[in-house]
Amino acid sequence: MDDLCQKIQFFRAQLPENGILIAVSKTKPVELIRKAYDCGHRDFGENKVQELRFKHLALPSSIRWHMIGHLQRNKVKYIAPFIHLIHSVDNEKLLTEINKQAAKNQRVIDILFQIKIAREETKFGLTEEAYRDLTEKYAQNHFPSVRLRGLMGMATNTQDKQQVRSEFARLKSLFDQLKTRFPHIDYLSAGMSGDYPLAIEQGANIIRIGSAIFGKRQ
Ligand SMILES: *Cc1c(COP(=O)(O)O)cnc(C)c1O
Repeated sequence: MDDLCQKIQFFRAQLPENGILIAVSKTKPVELIRKAYDCGHRDFGENKVQELRFKHLALPSSIRWHMIGHLQRNKVKYIAPFIHLIHSVDNEKLLTEINKQAAKNQRVIDILFQIKIAREETKFGLTEEAYRDLTEKYAQNHFPSVRLRGLMGMATNTQDKQQVRSEFARLKSLFDQLKTRFPHIDYLSAGMSGDYPLAIEQGANIIRIGSAIFGKRQ
């Protein structure tokens, strides 16, 4: 087995049962993704619509594509026919558009609410207040062509493990609350190459690993 397959195996082995490893292939060429596909891997994450579209067309249709980056409303239509899970829903207008495009494509699109857990101003995500508001509207069936599957978060980029741990713990506590209300909720997407052990420790069952699988990005 080659090195790439071994890395994928390694990260899968870190996950709890039914956990999902997202191999984050952003900026990486189609040939490299194909190699990971040939190792048997099927879940890949991208953060740009144009790149996602191109790779979707160039690669086998059995790949499950995950949108993990900030998503602009006017681009939802390009990924709505095929996207497997949108991790980055962070405002109501975006969710309204996803619902509309899902209906147009006669499908239900699975989504996660992205919660702002990091201290950094640059990280996207719903504030707790906006999250509660949006959850209320979801509960009132404002988005019938969307299925909420769970939460996603990105921790602060810091060496301070306690800081990162407490951010993931907060996300997990919101997730547990959400699950009491919607028992079908099952995904907690947290953890990247630099912080996945802490995310798993705090209950993540989806990790999004890029550089530790495919090497550093330019
Ligand atoms: C790029 C990216 C990742 C993967 O980052 P690595 O540090 O390369 O593992 C995970 N999640 C999101 C949202 C990303 O944009």
